[in-house]
Amino acid sequence: MGFRLANVGGRAALVHGDHYTDLATHSQGALGPDPMEALAQPDQLAELAAGLNAATATGLIAEVTLDPPVPRPQKVFGIGLNYASHAAESGMEAPASPVVFTKFPSCLVGPTADVEIRSDGCDYEVELVLVIGAGGRDIAVADAWSHVAGVTIGQDISDRPAQFAAKPPHFDLGKSFDTFGPIGPVVVSVDEVADRDAVALSCEINGETRQDGSTADLIFNVPTLISYLSSITTLVSGDLIFTGTPDGIGAVQGKFLADGDVITSTIDGIGTMTNRVVRISDPAPISNAAPNND
Ligand code: ZN
Repeated sequence: MGFRLANVGGRAALVHGDHYTDLATHSQGALGPDPMEALAQPDQLAELAAGLNAATATGLIAEVTLDPPVPRPQKVFGIGLNYASHAAESGMEAPASPVVFTKFPSCLVGPTADVEIRSDGCDYEVELVLVIGAGGRDIAVADAWSHVAGVTIGQDISDRPAQFAAKPPHFDLGKSFDTFGPIGPVVVSVDEVADRDAVALSCEINGETRQDGSTADLIFNVPTLISYLSSITTLVSGDLIFTGTPDGIGAVQGKFLADGDVITSTIDGIGTMTNRVVRISDPAPISNAAPNND
């Protein structure tokens, strides 16, 4: 028996069917309202979720706006080129070692939030996102899944011009514009997923399927990523790992995101996340001239 954790107005909530139940209320204060604290106690979440029913619900999910279920992680990792099909479409060789970048936590938004783009070269990338529960350093491959509190859906929105403006290219900034990290709708404990090593994920733009893959095709699988990252930096509860995107990105098809587009991201066992694209402005011009102090 697992749990489905959402963030309703900044408060952790357990989701059951169409309903949610406020965690702090349901646990009579044993767990506080902060989703970040809740994620450090996945076993307690599962126990509390077992006693839920419609009669004890706080409200209906359809009647609230969900915030990012992991609102303030210490670290957000992204893994580049982690599906052979995506490396090939990008004209890159499959990497021999994980390609790791960071998304700043400030880019995270909820599962229905608008994605605000500032160029005509922005792209979608549906990804399975791991949420660390018990942290650690030098986590063994064999133990890695036990450090995952749950999984959620993520969109690794990417501004390709910003990514490739610099030579050599850099990933962090182009993937960290404000609103470039929609996650949700819920964090689902791993035991709620049918096959944790083969999770189906897909992305539609305005109802047209663009990506349709399975994490069975990851080049570096979940245990390998956790073991590798934890050999470099101590993982803590709430850290996120965007595990990479399958083929079908817009850059390859010349189909970049445009104002009004609707991004629908689906992962079996977790649910669906729907985000609208809003074209807000152009990026600031860049000059390498010394500032004029006159
Ligand atoms: Zn990505």
